[in-house]
Amino acid sequence: MGRGENRMLHVTGVAASAGLAVGTIKRIHRARTGLTRVVLDCAREKALFEAAILLAKDELSQLEQRADSKDKDIFLFQRVMLDDKGLLDEISKAIDSGIGSAAAVERAAEIYIRRIRSIENEYLRERATDVQDACQRVVNILDGRPRETLHLSQPAIVAADEIYPSDIVSVDKGLILGIVTASGSAQGHAAIISRTMGIPAIVQAGEEFLEECDGQMAALDGFSGELFLSPDQPTKARFLHRIRLRTRQEQKLEALKKAPCITPDGKEVCLLANCSCPEDIELAMEKGADGVGLLRSEFMLMAGKMPTEQEQYIFYRRCLEAAGGKPVTVRTFDIGADKEVEGISHQEDNPALGLRGIRLCLARQDLLQPQLAALLRAAVHGPLKIMFPMIATPEEFQQAMEVVEQVKKQLWTRGVSFSEEVPIGTMIETPAAALMAEQLAPLCDFFSIGTNDLIQYAHAADRVNPLVAQYYPTFSPAVHALIQMAVDAANKNHISISVCGESAANPSIARHYVDMGIKNLSMAVVSLLEVKESLMESSPSNTTNTNT
Ligand code: PEP
Ligand code: MG
Repeated sequence: MGRGENRMLHVTGVAASAGLAVGTIKRIHRARTGLTRVVLDCAREKALFEAAILLAKDELSQLEQRADSKDKDIFLFQRVMLDDKGLLDEISKAIDSGIGSAAAVERAAEIYIRRIRSIENEYLRERATDVQDACQRVVNILDGRPRETLHLSQPAIVAADEIYPSDIVSVDKGLILGIVTASGSAQGHAAIISRTMGIPAIVQAGEEFLEECDGQMAALDGFSGELFLSPDQPTKARFLHRIRLRTRQEQKLEALKKAPCITPDGKEVCLLANCSCPEDIELAMEKGADGVGLLRSEFMLMAGKMPTEQEQYIFYRRCLEAAGGKPVTVRTFDIGADKEVEGISHQEDNPALGLRGIRLCLARQDLLQPQLAALLRAAVHGPLKIMFPMIATPEEFQQAMEVVEQVKKQLWTRGVSFSEEVPIGTMIETPAAALMAEQLAPLCDFFSIGTNDLIQYAHAADRVNPLVAQYYPTFSPAVHALIQMAVDAANKNHISISVCGESAANPSIARHYVDMGIKNLSMAVVSLLEVKESLMESSPSNTTNTNT
């Protein structure tokens, strides 16, 4: 690159973890194995490789113990990967063709990672880095090289081509001021861990800056994705000033995050988050959410690949871990209407009134049964609840419960551990369900009101059709009446009730729900603190017939 000693270099990447840092850069170099050993005895190479796998899994168990509870499953996933038949077969094939064990692992990992990266599924693509991390650990053991762990004797901004989760976890907290990588992804696990640990990070900053960065002063902006190498005096002063301001702001917000949400007239409200993945849940917990009121599990399928029961089990476990002991309510797949999933949803003239939610799942047991099995198994690890979408009649709820019983029997037969005590409830998002709330409540453990759909069905106004937007109110006397029926039935049967539609994030409607006797509100993470602040300052709503 050949820059002059003190010339500032401005590098732009992708913001992966919010925050600011000023400090000296420590670059991690990763050498590839140079093994060109000729294999004389395939059986011996395989024995070496098997022993290395055992050692690597043991190291991963130790890292799992060291990791924050939210990140433990990353190392669990890596350990599971080292048992993956596809990967092991690939390595075995390479050894059979005369390649040494270390090089065979490297080659097989490359093929396997390329295959994962070509899959049209964001989640799985992101896991390629974990496979690489796990395989590199095996290679290092076989190569007789200790894994190149990151050693920091003083705080630094870490730069590398790519950072692995284990790099971050193996360094004492507080020593990594920031992270900048040439490649990587904001959805990768290293970025996720950075966010969990509050380490500002930039990914995809390009290779160019890496060459000369070691030992240089840098200013890193994890909000904008910018890095200033050898920052000039004004840039450095600007960063230090922003860091001071941010610290003050964070302290102010911190008080609100931890405060219980109690209205001035003494009503306590439980504020829950609507999420779709463990990363959302981590963020929700950071904002002080009391749990997850709605996990839209169908978002897992939007990329077009159906995860197996085992993949789903790992996913739900990660969700529970991310919630750190707080409840996570998972809604079974609500596919159909505006949530199309290639190969599963149908082309219909009127999809919102079509084969959607529980109707589709009851017709497709191959979707419902593995999901329920994964959920019941994951529930061993934390307070998980299940709810069904689009229920219109008590009979539909009963049919879904029959499937739950069948799945439990299958799990017994398989000898797999699962929880018998999972609370199971229903969404109240069709007017029929609200009208039948008295009959539904004795069958359910809880109600969750989905106002997004309840409004569209009560007002016969498609929620995604701009032509009828004026006929789709945020709230109305009709919707109030339907919700009141659900509240009355829930109270009579002593089951809990929450609202998880978008309307719960509207501060004045949220207060209205509280006055109707609804103590649990679930909303998008970004709205949590705003709603909390407004409820804590609110006075009782003076109308029961708001039409907005
Ligand atoms: C709802 O209908 O209010 C709801 C929360 O579900 P979704 O928006 O996913 O249909
Ligand atoms: Mg809905």
